[in-house]
Amino acid sequence: MKLLICSCPEVPFDLQEVARELVDAGWQAHLTPPMCTPAGLREASTLAQKPGPWLLAACNTARHAGLFRHLMKEPQVIDLLGCAGPEEAVGAILLALEAPTRPPQATLPLHQAVLVIGGGVGGCQAALDLAHAGFKVYLVDSSLSIGGTMAQLDKTFPTLDCSICILGPKLVEVSTHDHIELLTYAQIDKISGQAGSFRVDVTLKPRYVDMSKCVGCGACAEVCPVIVPSRWNLGLKPRKCIRIIFEQSVPLRSTIEREYCIDCRMCAEACDRKAINLEDVPRARCLEVGAIVLATGARPFDPSIKSEYGYGRIPSVITNLEYERIICATGPTQGALITVQGQEVESLAFIQCVGSRDRRFLPYCSGYCCTASIKEAMIALEYHPGAEVTIFYNDIRTSGKGFEELYRRAQKAGVRFIKGLPGAIREDGAGRAVVCYEDLLKGGRRELTVDLAVLAVGLQAPSEALPFQDGPPERDGSGFYRSRHPILHPLESATPGIFLAGTSQGPKDISETVCQASGAAARVMAMFATLRQAH
Ligand code: SF4
Ligand code: SF4
Repeated sequence: MKLLICSCPEVPFDLQEVARELVDAGWQAHLTPPMCTPAGLREASTLAQKPGPWLLAACNTARHAGLFRHLMKEPQVIDLLGCAGPEEAVGAILLALEAPTRPPQATLPLHQAVLVIGGGVGGCQAALDLAHAGFKVYLVDSSLSIGGTMAQLDKTFPTLDCSICILGPKLVEVSTHDHIELLTYAQIDKISGQAGSFRVDVTLKPRYVDMSKCVGCGACAEVCPVIVPSRWNLGLKPRKCIRIIFEQSVPLRSTIEREYCIDCRMCAEACDRKAINLEDVPRARCLEVGAIVLATGARPFDPSIKSEYGYGRIPSVITNLEYERIICATGPTQGALITVQGQEVESLAFIQCVGSRDRRFLPYCSGYCCTASIKEAMIALEYHPGAEVTIFYNDIRTSGKGFEELYRRAQKAGVRFIKGLPGAIREDGAGRAVVCYEDLLKGGRRELTVDLAVLAVGLQAPSEALPFQDGPPERDGSGFYRSRHPILHPLESATPGIFLAGTSQGPKDISETVCQASGAAARVMAMFATLRQAH
């Protein structure tokens, strides 16, 4: 075996000394100029043409994997940056040089199908792009419908489009595409294998309604006597034990939540289609795919942990997602801007950075929330042009296209911006929220009493781990999936064959999520092109 050593300037020890020791030990070692420069690449390419096999010793192997593959097929690389000094580098290289030649790997079958985990807007976009390119796609979601958080929003920024109006057609396109198989209300039990050849065990949870017979008419829910809080509406609205999760749900099918069901069978009597099946059981599926896109999303920060804001204790303190449900025409108040207790809302305060940029909770900026609050403030003024709307901020960060313009429009429309995050929120005798703050520009401690205080909560990584047999893809310190490289390979995880879309990789707004999902789909296609050549 012969050795190419890249004289990478990032390696903090003497590589000439390393090369000398290896030559003294009887190995053919070539020290090239840095391979990421034209001169180094030229020299390495010329040497690599000569009969091998070759071993490469270079800097961070993940960052330059494409470059090394350009030099030689299946390169074996020693990461010099992982070595503490020249002795360790020589030791690692000798170990690899003296190891018996690797036996050829048994060729696993290449499955030309893709699993997309998560049916939010990012997962749907990735699934559609891959399906349009001819791949078979399994789109798996744990909830009853695809759509994710975007389906719960009233409007999107910066265009103020009705959220479900632009998302709904995409959901329908997903459900009707010949190449996409939608597996909702599904749980992933095990993921094993490697890039090109994964096996995924999935359990489809029982809905107690035959999906092939149900037409989503809702007659069953009308007669069901059991009423429970709707998680979809964040507990703000009751629903029946059997229900369609929301009006534009995809699939548009009923499901019984068995733990609340009293077995009265009134739904079965009301259903002309004979779709009710109270004896339904879980069903297992085994999927064989070549690549996996993680579009598992993020979860909102729980503001009850930040107890000074009184969330959960003071009814007039709500989260921004609860506000979205309230102002949404299909929400608990049918879109009327009133408190859940039915009182008119004439004054609102939006509190930024709840959980975010706070070393106690989420040390990073969640990115989406400044513009989201500006949008929500504008909607409040649409409902009540005379309302007093205030945004308490630390810094306003509106870096997306059209976001700054929305900020200016909000200022012109009369939204008041106060620099200074409130220290506390308390309740007055009338159930209103008293926001206690310090105005950092004008100075002085003040209080503002409002009908509704809306907390712009941060985004955090989902807590549940996917059951990868060989360990899940790496996560960063905040729990989001770590990219293979944050700048050069943001859409690939550190595990080959596993790609990242949307907020599974870090906080993002909707348009960024869609861009990233399309990018991840393109990376999947590129991976298949490379694997096909190898097969
Ligand atoms: S289960 Fe029957 S009654 Fe209920 S929505 Fe489906 S078809 Fe209609
Ligand atoms: S059987 Fe269960 S789901 Fe059906 S109507 Fe009775 S309580 Fe509701």
